[in-house]
Amino acid sequence: MGSIISAECSCGYCTSAQIDNTGRLITAGYDGMGDLLMGNGMRTRGIYYYPALCDQCKEVVPVNLDRSPVRCPVCKGSGVVPYYKQQMAREKGNREIPYSTVCEENEHGQEIVHALYEDTDYLCPECGANRLRFKHEGLWD
Ligand SMILES: [Zn+2]
Ligand SMILES: [Zn+2]
Repeated sequence: MGSIISAECSCGYCTSAQIDNTGRLITAGYDGMGDLLMGNGMRTRGIYYYPALCDQCKEVVPVNLDRSPVRCPVCKGSGVVPYYKQQMAREKGNREIPYSTVCEENEHGQEIVHALYEDTDYLCPECGANRLRFKHEGLWD
């Protein structure tokens, strides 16, 4: 299971990249508010989507965390930073988005658990301020 999420900033930026449930990217020509998939679906083994900021595209894009290095699905560049990273938000929120928890090891080998929150201000790729908010739109399987 996974979550469908969207991202929106008070500067007017909103997500425009989308991946369908077979992993194909829908970009150009997609009108309307883009939804991002997070987690994995029944038809997408070996894939764990997570929203990331792509430096090159200046977009929030869904990246596959199961692949290393993590690459942008649009430009194929590796200049992407997943939104669970500490530098993407100043503080943690309280409203955790379902299926957004990921584990990471630090230098002492301990697992740090990260999650995406609805009530946290994240770094916006458009204006560069911490004003981007994620919203849980629904579930996908
Ligand atoms: Zn890119
Ligand atoms: Zn913005």
